[in-house]
Amino acid sequence: MKVCKLLKEDKLTISFEVFPPKTSDRFDSVLEATKKIASYNPDFMSVTYGAGGGTSEFTAEIASSLQKEYEVPIIAHLTCVSSTKDFVSKTVESYKKNGIKNIMALRGDIPKEGRIAHDYNYASELIRELKTQGEFCIGGACYPEGHVECENKADDIKYLKEKVEAGCDFLTTQMFFDNNIFYNFLYRARESGITVPIVPGIMPITTKQQLKRSVAMSGTNVPERFRAIVDKFGNSPDKMQQVGILYAADQIVDLIANGINHIHVYSMNKPDVAKGILNHLSEVLGRDIIE
Ligand code: FAD
Repeated sequence: MKVCKLLKEDKLTISFEVFPPKTSDRFDSVLEATKKIASYNPDFMSVTYGAGGGTSEFTAEIASSLQKEYEVPIIAHLTCVSSTKDFVSKTVESYKKNGIKNIMALRGDIPKEGRIAHDYNYASELIRELKTQGEFCIGGACYPEGHVECENKADDIKYLKEKVEAGCDFLTTQMFFDNNIFYNFLYRARESGITVPIVPGIMPITTKQQLKRSVAMSGTNVPERFRAIVDKFGNSPDKMQQVGILYAADQIVDLIANGINHIHVYSMNKPDVAKGILNHLSEVLGRDIIE
């Protein structure tokens, strides 16, 4: 099923993101974790893609497995910055063969060791190309605090608008820990004329190291309130997992209270985290508690 259709409906959706393994020896355990998450019946799931091509073949395998066994709509991610046109086109063919109808089209991070191909510079080029390759529902990434490489937010929104005009059907945000940053971004995006659905991405932080890593990569602001929580509970894994899930659930409740119907959760291949979020919000989302 096309995710674009779900995002147009006036109904709450909750979706989870998972990622493929880097090496084949981890494939079975990752597949098992993603299947467990799929068994919780999310509205859709997305499977990320290794920018350097390292895990790229596993994206299609995991996506098609989940789609077949659980009938959960799947978004397969695809990055382009370090790929040739030929490689991208073969990957798209394999997505088609596996019945994938939704693609999150990304540029990908520029590899530190240098690019191995120079066929694409921006996600908008990939999106334009995908539009000619089939009837996909196409998503794009957006950054409420601005993308790390962009020097000013006005330019970032200008390029985002160009990306939507290239053919994005919806946008999903990078994680944020302060909902006001999202509301402010949403206002600026709408003011610039971007009208497609914008799905907030929420990351439940379950370890101190995860926060450190995520912030280093994305530059996401950590509000004092959340920093105090991590300082207090970060050295106790069980407590940190519980309060991380609570903090994310609290963000989700606030988003829903402010009229946001579609929430994407960066569940990071952790079934306990997906389950924790769903159970905390079972009444709000109108779902049964998962045992
Ligand atoms: P773009 O939209 O191309 O933007 C990249 C930068 O270029 C921005 O600073 C933008 O302002 C600027 N820009 C855009 N167009 C122009 C232009 N015409 N002229 C000048 N500047 C321009 N990474 C992965 O490797 N695999 C994944 O599966 C993955 N999934 C993601 C999912 C989401 C929801 C998000 C938010 C990010 C994801 N990423 C993933 C990370 C993403 O690949 C990186 O953030 C990457 O650096 C930017 O990708 P993009 O598609 O947003 O790039």
